Amino acid sequence: MLDILCNLLGAAFLLPLGAALGSFFEVVLDRLPRGESLLWPPSHCRTCGHRLSADELVPVISYLAQRGRCRACDIPIGRGVPIREGLSGLTLSLPWAVAGCAHPVFALGIGTVLLVAVWVAWGLLRRRAPNAGH
Ligand SMILES: [Zn+2]
Repeated sequence: MLDILCNLLGAAFLLPLGAALGSFFEVVLDRLPRGESLLWPPSHCRTCGHRLSADELVPVISYLAQRGRCRACDIPIGRGVPIREGLSGLTLSLPWAVAGCAHPVFALGIGTVLLVAVWVAWGLLRRRAPNAGH
């Protein structure tokens, strides 16, 4: 019983962490091929340049709250963005939800390896088809 609670609590912590990492990888894959800095300028709308505030940067939640559109210019944000963020959260948290408290190093290791592998694969797929994604 305690193990199940422990697994769920850990997964509840890792879910948003994985989504945040997914959000970061999204930026990496968007900017690196263009030769842009990962740190500057801060996150902004590609269309109108609107600088995203903290409440526009919450993975998945911000997308839903803004109904998938830029708050400033109303242009649609790709549906793939929140999907990839959500899947990143699940990828990191599911191994922990299954066996995290009994085998923490294994669960975290598997989750991390899967998360990175999924993003490397996605990055390679995107490179082949530059218009995919957004
Ligand atoms: Zn905009």
